[in-house]
Amino acid sequence: MKILLTPESFASDFLKKIEEMTKQKVFDCYQCGKCSAGCPISFEMDYLPSVVIRMAQFGMEKEVLESRTIWLCASCETCTTRCPREIDIAALMDGFRILAVQQGVRARVRTVRLFNKLFLGIVRKYGRIFEGELIGKFNLLSGRPFQDIFKGPALFKQGRMKMLPAISNRKAMKKIFDGVKEKEKQRKKQAQSAVSQSRVEGSSAGGKVEPGE
Ligand code: SF4
Ligand code: SF4
Repeated sequence: MKILLTPESFASDFLKKIEEMTKQKVFDCYQCGKCSAGCPISFEMDYLPSVVIRMAQFGMEKEVLESRTIWLCASCETCTTRCPREIDIAALMDGFRILAVQQGVRARVRTVRLFNKLFLGIVRKYGRIFEGELIGKFNLLSGRPFQDIFKGPALFKQGRMKMLPAISNRKAMKKIFDGVKEKEKQRKKQAQSAVSQSRVEGSSAGGKVEPGE
């Protein structure tokens, strides 16, 4: 008997979600490996970018969202520019991170989690990033207070780092953060009501007594 494997054979909710979110066709990947060969971070990853794409094709949601790879990806887009199938792999990595956060999957790389939190907190506070505060807090909280300390003076001298934060449009930034929070609240509400709806449907289907039984 011949078995024909098509993208539909592997259809999964995970695949649907990530394709809808990123507008990418995961099944366009034919595993040439060019993305992995060019990735500058691949030596630290637990799965190569092409392997993560393969796992997504197979609907391996847990493995993808719990991987170190999606958090180590630096969004440099080297993979995206190299892909002969024009798949935006960097966008897929973004999408995987968003799904991981939405589903409460903790990032496997603690310092990435910390960096994201501090970065967003500072942008929210000043309306833009203030590198001095970010580096200081990150070094302290990650337990490496003296990391890169000798590079500081040169960076100040070249004007790449400032002593004080430059305050930007904080009102506009607050609006963006509040908007995201609101959207996130709505998304959670919708997800909860979808779950309760399916429970109600499940229990009424299971408890249904046909006439004459
Ligand atoms: S470069 Fe593109 S086609 Fe090749 S393995 Fe990576 S995602 Fe797949
Ligand atoms: S975007 Fe991420 S996965 Fe792609 S090459 Fe850069 S670090 Fe690697």
